[in-house]
Amino acid sequence: MKISKYIVPTMKEDPSDAVVASHRLMIRAGLIRKEAAGMYAYLPLGFRVLKKVINIIREEMDKAGGLEFLMPELTNADLWKESGRWDTMGPEMFRIQDRNKLEYALAPTHEEAFTNVVRSIISSYRDLPVNVYQINTKFRDEIRPRFGVMRSKEFIMKDAYSFDIDEEGLEESYQKMRATYRSIFERCGLETIPVQADTGNMGGSNSEEFMVASEIGEEALLLCSCGYRANQERADFYRELTKSGEEQKEIEIVDTPDVKTIDDLVSFFNCSAEKFLKSIIYLADNKPVMAVVPGNREINELKLKNTLGAVELELAPDNVVEEVTSAPVGFAGPVNGLNVRTVFDISVRYIPNAITGANEKDKHFKNVNPERDFAVKEEADISTAEEGDPCPECKKSMTVKRGIEVGHIFKLGYKYTKAMNVTVQNEKSQEITPIMGCYGIGVNRTLAAIIEQNYDERGIIWPLSVAPFHVHLVGIAKSDEEVKTVEEIYNKIQDSGLEVLYDDRKVSPGFKFADADLVGIPVRITVGKSYFTNNEIELKFRHSKDILKISVEKISEFLSEYRKLLSDGNVSIQKLSDFLK
Ligand code: ATP
Ligand code: MG
Repeated sequence: MKISKYIVPTMKEDPSDAVVASHRLMIRAGLIRKEAAGMYAYLPLGFRVLKKVINIIREEMDKAGGLEFLMPELTNADLWKESGRWDTMGPEMFRIQDRNKLEYALAPTHEEAFTNVVRSIISSYRDLPVNVYQINTKFRDEIRPRFGVMRSKEFIMKDAYSFDIDEEGLEESYQKMRATYRSIFERCGLETIPVQADTGNMGGSNSEEFMVASEIGEEALLLCSCGYRANQERADFYRELTKSGEEQKEIEIVDTPDVKTIDDLVSFFNCSAEKFLKSIIYLADNKPVMAVVPGNREINELKLKNTLGAVELELAPDNVVEEVTSAPVGFAGPVNGLNVRTVFDISVRYIPNAITGANEKDKHFKNVNPERDFAVKEEADISTAEEGDPCPECKKSMTVKRGIEVGHIFKLGYKYTKAMNVTVQNEKSQEITPIMGCYGIGVNRTLAAIIEQNYDERGIIWPLSVAPFHVHLVGIAKSDEEVKTVEEIYNKIQDSGLEVLYDDRKVSPGFKFADADLVGIPVRITVGKSYFTNNEIELKFRHSKDILKISVEKISEFLSEYRKLLSDGNVSIQKLSDFLK
């Protein structure tokens, strides 16, 4: 492909709204253009990479026995009502009506739609197991679309759904997908870490997310050397839950004018934060609730939401806090019991002589003792695990790393097949309900994550497997004769079956090299002065600074080796550079 006939609209300047490298570089290298917040157009160069990622996913899914479908994007409200999710999906789901006022959702995910189509096809245990998948658009009204295609309102997902006759079968299907995901990401040149994850509104018992370690990752991961790995959203941690020998003192009310935050309280009472009962009022599906954790802990809102069984959870606004506690914000506490559902973290009952808000302006209680001064009716682990907390499995100290979630696999169980009455006959002609798994990969986010793991100050450094072209040919020709010679070399490379992007523009060499670095094709070949004087071609790998001068014969051997390794599916930069040694 000649650049003069193609579209490679590179930009020198960073776009002002791009804060992460992948977003910046995708715009600057001319892969995407922004249409509106969370909506992007793929330009030809970006689309080529996207298709390469999609092909890898498709090949690996097919190899694992997946059967590819293409489902409608409009999904009927009736299906969502059948599963019960019409009411629980929340504001992320785009809902629309047709001219007859029939309701639909623009699919944010396809469990219902696939369950519906599969139930119309399967009837016997002989039809199972089956794994159906598609690579298709999803729509989500994200509260904060950001980081370019990393979190957008419309994105491509590979979503797969397995149906098995029993749990053993599901385990097998799940493990097969797990292994397939590892191969997919590996082939994309990505290192991923599978971590335990929350099952959210998908339902089900078990789920893992595939994370790409990255400073800009929106997820925090708790990792232990023993192999325990979990998303902070759901990470457990070991806690020594024993009553201390400390004698219970008499409860006292203390004047605490303007002492509101945990830091203020620590200095006012001169004791450690864990002595405080941090009491926060939330709205869970619009009803006020209180959550109580030790003062040195953060409330894990996802754990709390799951404990409450709530669809939506948000901090209560000041007026609600004032109404519930009869005091300004900052003085809530469980003593005497508030008239709202209260969830205590499992550690609260073991804190003797605690300090907490008195539900009265400028007043706190000290020497508060659980069960004596308030009832602990509902307890759960609602604390966030932090760096240094003991591992729930081996008690060693855990570390925190940030990650980008590129894939997610779930054991769904019977949630959809039961709700939507899917049955097949078993060997004894009895009706049984199949068990499901579901497996998603964010295609665009995977592409962005590949860039996050592979770039430098000059631009993208594509892994060979997903590079938009195999070779970037730079021509530096002065006379018409020279232009013709470069053109012949271009045709030769093209004819050998390699994908080549040929910079035939009439711009300076420096300009061409800067664009080549920005666009990031792994192999750059320059035909210029050295060729016309010495019959030597310059070869540069994008990942290295070295420029190699190579004879024409050796270059053609190199290119046929490159071609061969590609068709064997066995190409790597290492192998290519070894060939030149
Ligand atoms: P997140 O927690 O990042 O919102 P999710 O848990 O909602 O992700 P899933 O429903 O498991 O995501 O979707 C499967 C995959 O789709 C994710 O692993 C991610 O790679 C991708 N994905 C999800 N939301 C978006 C989005 N708004 N933009 C781009 N990709 C997304
Ligand atoms: Mg999401």
